Amino acid sequence: VNYLEQRILKDGVVKPGNVLKVDSFLNHQIDPIVMEEVVTEFIEYFGDRKVTKVMTIEASGIAPAIMLAAKLKVPMLFAKKTEPATMEREDRYESLVHSYTKDVTSNVIISKEYLDASDSVVIIDDFLANGEAALGLADIVEQAGAEVAGVGICIEKSFQPGHQLIKEKGLDLHSISRIASLDNGEVTFLKDDE
Ligand code: 5GP
Repeated sequence: VNYLEQRILKDGVVKPGNVLKVDSFLNHQIDPIVMEEVVTEFIEYFGDRKVTKVMTIEASGIAPAIMLAAKLKVPMLFAKKTEPATMEREDRYESLVHSYTKDVTSNVIISKEYLDASDSVVIIDDFLANGEAALGLADIVEQAGAEVAGVGICIEKSFQPGHQLIKEKGLDLHSISRIASLDNGEVTFLKDDE
């Protein structure tokens, strides 16, 4: 088990509905050491690709995304979940994303000013469940005529459909921690070759 997995075993709390609560180091209080370990592994995997931007969705994707962007020395761009008061409809890309944990659908928005066909983007998020967030971002990258260089996830719940859906889209996915099951309130990881 890697550093993130050790922290999940120590401090993660399994909630009803197959939700893992990681508020003590990832989703509320954020441990920069965990983030650094995560980013080191993303760099190992994506480091040799052409990347012009790191993209995520507010709020919980921002921490790992900005830390990776700092290492790659490229901008980090996050999709907004609420209507920006100062952005006209024709000036933005948007995609519908259904939130697994909140059970609401939001129209996530990126300004056309910051994404175009010359971009090659790594998509980052804290969790992968049904793949809605990552696929919504990939959809926006496609609308811009840009390229997805890869998808990097901190915690993948491999028993939910997101992994499969992203692979089927032909995207290169790398998840730092892959959870096989949260049954009986217990976290079980996939083996490396699974
Ligand atoms: P997806 O879009 O892949 O269905 O779900 C990913 C998003 O939902 C992530 O951005 C994350 O915020 C949230 N999420 C999904 N599952 C979990 C979970 O088990 N725990 C936490 N803390 N967030 C989750």
